[in-house]
Amino acid sequence: MAITRILIANRGEIALRIHRAAHEMGIETVAVHSTADADAMHVRLADHAICIGPPPAGESYLNHAAIISAAEISGADAIHPGYGFLSENAKFAEIVEAHDIAWIGPKPEHIRTMGDKVAAKQTAGELGLPLVPGSDGAVSDYDEAKRIAAEIGYPVIIKAASGGGGRGMKVCEAEDKLESLMKQAGSEAKAAFGDATVYIEKYLGNPRHIEFQVFGDGNGNAVHLGERDCSLQRRHQKVLEEAPSPVLTPEDRHRMGEICADAMREMGYRGAGTIEFLWEDGAFYFIEMNTRLQVEHPVTEAITGLDLVREQIRIADGKPLSVTQDEIAFKGHAIECRINAEDPWTFAPSPGEVTYYHAAGGMHVRVDSGLYASYRIPPYYDSMIAKLIVYGRTREGCIMRLRRALEEMVIEGVKTSIPLHQELLRQPDVLSGDYSIKWLEEWLKERER
Ligand code: ADP
Repeated sequence: MAITRILIANRGEIALRIHRAAHEMGIETVAVHSTADADAMHVRLADHAICIGPPPAGESYLNHAAIISAAEISGADAIHPGYGFLSENAKFAEIVEAHDIAWIGPKPEHIRTMGDKVAAKQTAGELGLPLVPGSDGAVSDYDEAKRIAAEIGYPVIIKAASGGGGRGMKVCEAEDKLESLMKQAGSEAKAAFGDATVYIEKYLGNPRHIEFQVFGDGNGNAVHLGERDCSLQRRHQKVLEEAPSPVLTPEDRHRMGEICADAMREMGYRGAGTIEFLWEDGAFYFIEMNTRLQVEHPVTEAITGLDLVREQIRIADGKPLSVTQDEIAFKGHAIECRINAEDPWTFAPSPGEVTYYHAAGGMHVRVDSGLYASYRIPPYYDSMIAKLIVYGRTREGCIMRLRRALEEMVIEGVKTSIPLHQELLRQPDVLSGDYSIKWLEEWLKERER
């Protein structure tokens, strides 16, 4: 089986990213799009384009039947889901494979296990990954919750088993709030994810978010591509990511990376994955695994020189990993800024027409974006419109270049988060790398005063 035509079940910059990797491999692409995206750049560049429905994602980008039909009609022999949308939908992955179409993603059973956070934590524990202390599984009754919370100590965090995207979490400071917060978390989880299951974890005071990129060939071979530090977050959503982490030693990287790769070998994991940890005082605590490509994958590409999408496609095509662990070396430093169409300080979405667009350029500057002048950013989807990824031999050099590149970026007609990034990159704590997952929100609060 050789993949010759990939249907890209996504939109925006990631659809373009996949198209580029495919074309560089001599593979044709099929874009699918909602009526709102008829003029999108990935639709223009793809070899074939099929409209799959109206603007609401539920009727287009999440519409299983429409996407499978589009693959059949266009003769696609593989589907790449990108991130978000159907990328972590085990059922959809099964349907794709049942149609003899290659799924450019992990085995459906692994998507399913890791998509349920309780099952994921259990599996991670069995595979030898260090866990955040907490309940061994789902917690349903209050007395049990009380006992567990007392054992691990307050504050604790109540999380939805089916949660994602930073939603469905409640921090509980003391026992007298536990019962009401558990009820709230349960009913909110039910409303948002259709599943009221919750579990409890120790709430770490000041951790960093450090994640490891892994790749498996599905036959028991796996490698790790080092870590990314994604501690600069607002409402549990990443804003700026960097690799390597300013706090990890090469020994830590090697030790944790090997633990992650070993776990993937044991699972027989296939494709790209990210194992997310919180890191505090030198210790790692597993929080979840994402069974897909991540938004921030380019920082890893910058410091390893590997094309992660190409690697995904090769693996889906039954080829082995193109590198061994010994051949993977980390060189220099990379930072990614997520540029959203939103007010940089209130974060209110700002869709609309881009009247002028000029992308930054120059040495070691990469812009992943589907923007062009006169493009209308539709209001229906995620507000991220561009990613600016900059590489430097040192972290200092990378930051200087990033500041220069941000000065060059011009996006007119809508508000963007560029001013936020510019100010962020002047903060002493950011310059020194001394920040935790709490830092950004505290800084924003401080700034408002
Ligand atoms: P999601 O799937 O919604 O992204 P995660 O479990 O990955 O949820 O957690 C998202 C973010 O929430 C983390 O990056 C971190 O900022 C915060 N968080 C999660 N668990 C804890 C914890 N035990 N203690 C402190 N912060 C946490």
